[in-house]
Amino acid sequence: MEIRTYGDPALRRRAEPVGAIDDGVRAICEQMVETMLRANGAGLAAPQIGISKRIIVLDVGGEFHVLINPELIETSDEVEQVTEGCLSVPGVDAAVGRATRAVIEGATLNGETVRIEGEGLLARAIQHEMDHLNGNLFLDRLSPARRQSVLREYERRRREEPS
Ligand code: ZN
Repeated sequence: MEIRTYGDPALRRRAEPVGAIDDGVRAICEQMVETMLRANGAGLAAPQIGISKRIIVLDVGGEFHVLINPELIETSDEVEQVTEGCLSVPGVDAAVGRATRAVIEGATLNGETVRIEGEGLLARAIQHEMDHLNGNLFLDRLSPARRQSVLREYERRRREEPS
């Protein structure tokens, strides 16, 4: 599946909860995993392939998860600034403040509820993908001046390296 990029309205919608986990949902999850692996991403949210459903996939440090209707249960007060990027804003990155620990709960493909406790990069990926489900991008977490400068760089790269 093609990954939607900055400016695509699919990235700005609040994704809808998933009802029954049927063949259609399983097919979406499969496409998401394939797309994430092909793009070498640490995670992917369904809106990034144009599907407005609350599904995320994560692949961080050997931990691999497919989560349906994930809910952020807890985040630490401690925040760290670490450089991150996004498959939907290719070619640029920026330091973003994120909680160092994040806990989410969601359903697996079997409909079983699981809780994932992430620290460091996994905590960051969890928060980044949860943002996507709410129509937000990492750019939204930057100061207006920083966002402008990252977007200028993004546009410049797009002009120079048309895909
Ligand atoms: Zn992203």
